[in-house]
Amino acid sequence: MSVRKYSIIDCTNKEARLKLPNFEPGEGFARQLDKQDALAKFRQAFYIADPDLIYLDGNSLGRLPLATRERVRTAVEMEWGIDLIRGWNANWYQAPARVGEKIARLVGAAPGQVLVSDSTSVNLFKLVCAALALRPERNCIVSDVLNFPSDIYILQGIIPLLGNRHSLTLVPSADEISIDLRDIAARIDENTALVTVSQVVFKSGFLYDVEELTRIAHRAGALVLLDVSHSVGAVPIAFDRWGVDLAIGCTYKYLNGGPGSPAFLYVNHALQPRALSPIWGWFGQQTPFAFDLTYNPAEGARRFLVSSPPILSILAMEAGLDLQIEAGIEQIRQKSIILTSYLVFLVDTILAPLGFTLGSPRDARQRGSHISIRHPEGYRINRALVEDMHLIPDFREPDNIRLGLAPLYTSFWEVWEGVDRIRRVVEEERYLCYSNQRQAVT
Ligand SMILES: *Cc1c(COP(=O)(O)O)cnc(C)c1O
Repeated sequence: MSVRKYSIIDCTNKEARLKLPNFEPGEGFARQLDKQDALAKFRQAFYIADPDLIYLDGNSLGRLPLATRERVRTAVEMEWGIDLIRGWNANWYQAPARVGEKIARLVGAAPGQVLVSDSTSVNLFKLVCAALALRPERNCIVSDVLNFPSDIYILQGIIPLLGNRHSLTLVPSADEISIDLRDIAARIDENTALVTVSQVVFKSGFLYDVEELTRIAHRAGALVLLDVSHSVGAVPIAFDRWGVDLAIGCTYKYLNGGPGSPAFLYVNHALQPRALSPIWGWFGQQTPFAFDLTYNPAEGARRFLVSSPPILSILAMEAGLDLQIEAGIEQIRQKSIILTSYLVFLVDTILAPLGFTLGSPRDARQRGSHISIRHPEGYRINRALVEDMHLIPDFREPDNIRLGLAPLYTSFWEVWEGVDRIRRVVEEERYLCYSNQRQAVT
């Protein structure tokens, strides 16, 4: 058994053809793929307490990088413990910008546009308010029905706050999996202030052609705000080249920043002189330690900072970013495409006969790094996988089991073994002893 050499393309190149290995169903083939995996060594950079636990939820909470443990220990014992308040001048005050510049390298942003700050939802609030103020004569916001609900809530909440001058249009999806750009284009006109979507949607994993989306929005004079929470660290991103105006993203998923790690924001240089944050905090003031009684916004993106940053969490995030930068996004995307394609192959051959359907795009160029599979008993199957089979995916209503494949540490054997455990749960009817009653966190 041998695996052919493969080469994979940039996901943004629509013309390129995918060359994938000829997948085979057995466990031995998974082990062959692992042997040929150029990123295999990165798995050793993560803390893996239990090798028998198949963790397919790195798109919700990434694993712990070993270097993070050391970094946190140093931050606590040396910086906080010994430096005390001197830490601010030594290292902490610049941390949101310094760590932001590392993220900038992963999102195709020249220096001075990315900052670590607050949470994804809060950053969305700040940037949407800024965008709407930049288009005062326009009153429509366009998003889509596959966007992350928190993003939709933030948009809904902003409308009454700004005096009910705006309306929100959610572009529908014909198949619950993808959004057709023509449907977006049809809803954008000279009244559209802002178009905001998730580059990779959280449920199906659909991947937008952001370059084309941006072209469509800009042609009508609208601004584009991109949420890259489910794509950063998994697919190539080129904010500057695509001309994205504003963006936000989460760091606890593929960037392995740790539970609740702070998010980041991007403000394109071209907008920076005019864009204003709706929250005028002292860290966004030009000279916070002058303690002026009048707010003067800081130059550049820094005006979007609000308050004392969560330093321990920002420092904890850095080790994960270093791993991403070392591995390189092209290599990561290449492995991700093979991982998800292999999983789709196994779903087709092993799980489809058991009643599963694919809830993600079939074309690898149109999806990120997670795959949803749907089954009428999805909720109970997911419970059985977690509690009985030592497999951690997650569940998204109404019937999606999401399988996240994190290229830095997910092995091909885990994909194979994961599918085999799902098969056993269904064949052996292990899910029947679980209730359909939803738990608080799925
Ligand atoms: C995970 C995720 C978020 C997270 O929002 P928080 O404010 O950090 O809780 C936001 N948007 C998308 C698209 C996500 O996938």
